Amino acid sequence: MGIHMAYWFVPRIASDTNIRDTYMAPGGRQIMRRSHNATETQAYFVMREDSAEASAIHRAPRGEQQRFWAERFSDAGWQTERFVEGMKDSPFFYSQEVAQVRIGNWSTGRVVLAGDAAHCASPYSGMGISGGLVGAYVLAWEINRSPDDLTAALANYERVLRPFVDEIQGKVNPKILRVGVPLNRHAITAFQNVTAAGLLPAHPRPGRPHVEG
Ligand SMILES: Cc1cc2nc3c(=O)[nH]c(=O)nc-3n(C[C@H](O)[C@H](O)[C@H](O)COP(=O)(O)OP(=O)(O)OC[C@H]3O[C@@H](n4cnc5c(N)ncnc54)[C@H](O)[C@@H]3O)c2cc1C
Repeated sequence: MGIHMAYWFVPRIASDTNIRDTYMAPGGRQIMRRSHNATETQAYFVMREDSAEASAIHRAPRGEQQRFWAERFSDAGWQTERFVEGMKDSPFFYSQEVAQVRIGNWSTGRVVLAGDAAHCASPYSGMGISGGLVGAYVLAWEINRSPDDLTAALANYERVLRPFVDEIQGKVNPKILRVGVPLNRHAITAFQNVTAAGLLPAHPRPGRPHVEG
């Protein structure tokens, strides 16, 4: 799909409100920020790129990943400098290609997968926490209902939960995702106009978009 993402925490500053900001820059680049407590802000860099280098960078050492992201966003504008500076000292930093894994079978013998291990949705579908909580509830319920027949309990867990998970995972449409990471200024403007008019589905959601650069 060629959409890449890195995220980390930076110190929160006065202008970081409780509303998420999404900034779009030409070249298929996005910066998102959201604040989850009084002292920290989450920074997300998102990039659309179909190169072998971009796909391989997520397995490189952390320093190389950070150099890669800083270089790709060097002329992106907005608060890039602040986020790149904060990246270096952040205790949490992760770089990944956006992907979704669908597993045909969630258990074997007495081993059972739950939460992200069974049905990681996507940063673009949301519902990761809900999926994990609902799955844990269904699993506990089914084991409690068939305490002497684990095979039946695990089969029921999958039968009951699978439609819910299919719906969550199916919310991600790679074509719409690519539209949500526009390549040039005209596409950014078109995207912002369409989302402002409420014509696109909830994901991807630009918070309060600005355009610069
Ligand atoms: C940046 C980011 C933002 C997100 N934002 C949202 C959001 O806004 N809303 C939402 O609903 N979801 C969000 N998610 C998804 C959500 O965080 C996950 O879906 C959820 O945490 C999955 O819960 P889990 O318990 O299945 O897995 P995890 O929370 O990943 O827990 C797995 C645990 O297992 C531990 N572990 C791993 N290997 C071992 C081992 N070998 N031995 C012992 N322990 C081990 C790990 O350290 C970890 O503590 C986000 C995810 C990310 C990465």
